[in-house]
Amino acid sequence: MDNGMCSAEARSANGFDPEMIHDWLSEEDPERLVFLWRMADRVRREQVGKSVHLRGLVEISNHCIRNCRYCGLRAGIPGRTRYRMRDDEILACVQEAVQRGMGTVVLQAGEDPGLDRERVAGLVRRIKKETKLAVTLSLGERSLEDLRAWRRAGADRYLLRFETSSPELYQQIHPPRTQGAPDRMEILGWLKDLGYEVGSGVMVGIPGQTREDLAGDLALFRKLDLDMIGLGPFIPHPKTPLGAHDAQVATLIDQVPASADMACTALALARLLCPLSNIPATTALATLDGTPGLEQGLRSGANVIMPDLTPIHYRRLYEIYPSRVRPGEGCAEPHEKILSLIRAMGRTPGRGCGDSLAWMARTGMK
Ligand code: SAH
Ligand code: SF4
Repeated sequence: MDNGMCSAEARSANGFDPEMIHDWLSEEDPERLVFLWRMADRVRREQVGKSVHLRGLVEISNHCIRNCRYCGLRAGIPGRTRYRMRDDEILACVQEAVQRGMGTVVLQAGEDPGLDRERVAGLVRRIKKETKLAVTLSLGERSLEDLRAWRRAGADRYLLRFETSSPELYQQIHPPRTQGAPDRMEILGWLKDLGYEVGSGVMVGIPGQTREDLAGDLALFRKLDLDMIGLGPFIPHPKTPLGAHDAQVATLIDQVPASADMACTALALARLLCPLSNIPATTALATLDGTPGLEQGLRSGANVIMPDLTPIHYRRLYEIYPSRVRPGEGCAEPHEKILSLIRAMGRTPGRGCGDSLAWMARTGMK
């Protein structure tokens, strides 16, 4: 793999015509779709290789001050039991990531002011001092000062999905914001300036999302030159406004289906548009369709998996969408299953931190 290749060269090299995004999203012929997924798989192999990077996910708090209309952690849900993990509990999960040979830990949470600047900075410093792991944060829309302090403490990456490129749809799925507050696009710009590896993404099939909207999202991934791209199916949570039954039946003519196939088509297009990015087969895809969903994602252009290391009693409460924990599920068994899946597919578990080649090309690192 030539790390010196710039993202633009790599893009033109795969011969994919970005003008055709919308047509591909409307494609219904199964054979043509399999052709697209295979094309993305080939580009993945040529551009980022056969490693599947494992990121240990720790869901450190389910407190959230936001009211995103699709999410089961939204502040407005009555009666939800809230938790915030202690530092020693988080560090035990971090050690588990090390023991399992992972190169990255992802600390994710609702937008929780209780995770204040100093606490998160201290945590990041300890992880960087005590391990060789890369640290990814996904803590919502935080201030420039918070993001700067965490980068200085050693955080490597930040995930913040822009959720949709359509201003109209954005308004439908998020309650009005305080005037003058920075939006997610502005924050993504800060993250880039601060030198983070920047990840963003959208849900596939959120009520009101048209194929034109999704095509716009994919074009924006390319324009933003993202280092990481997260794309997963929307999974309705019945206690949220967009998960309620009537939101589901009020479908548009051009509504994007929230299916595993559509999520994989969008993932394949993301790989073709952004060949050097790190792209996970997301937890939502696995939730919708179990191990076959992960496998289909890995065959459609994905090169990352994010196994969940959150202790099971907290994981049950991190209910962004329902059914994330299946009856009898523990922690170790899915990890072994994931490793066997990777090997059975002729791929290899990634070594080292698995930095994004898009980020290396952009910043001239390595
Ligand atoms: N609070 C942080 C991180 C946790 S939410 C943030 O919002 O960035 C992480 C992602 O979960 C969100 O960006 C959203 O795309 C996804 N998500 C939320 N509700 C979902 C649902 N019902 N189905 C599928 N994905 C969902
Ligand atoms: Fe909170 Fe993130 Fe869910 Fe929005 S998507 S309600 S910010 S946890």
